[in-house]
Amino acid sequence: MKKITLFDGDQEELFAHDYLIKCPNCHENIQLKPSSCVTVSRLTDDTLIEFLPKLKGLKTIEMGDSKFYKVDDLPLRYSHINCQYCDAKYIGIFGLGEYQPSRFIFKMVSLFSTV
Ligand SMILES: [Zn+2]
Repeated sequence: MKKITLFDGDQEELFAHDYLIKCPNCHENIQLKPSSCVTVSRLTDDTLIEFLPKLKGLKTIEMGDSKFYKVDDLPLRYSHINCQYCDAKYIGIFGLGEYQPSRFIFKMVSLFSTV
């Protein structure tokens, strides 16, 4: 799956919008709020082990007991995504964060089907 840049600009504007993700199953647009994307460290370990090795450009940063994940220098986040049109369920993996001072990027990295 090709990474898609959804936003590139300042932080305030980034969180002021919803974004559209095309459902790979029915091709309808699913609305997504960037604030619903939470850090990947909160995914349960089994899920992490299944999905993370499939990501291109993944970097793991270990700090003490914690692990942080980045793709293309952006902190990795995820969101559960349900398509209201065909009922498909996904875990969306995103890069979201400050790329350069005051420059925020929101990028869709991958979409994994969960059913
Ligand atoms: Zn769908």
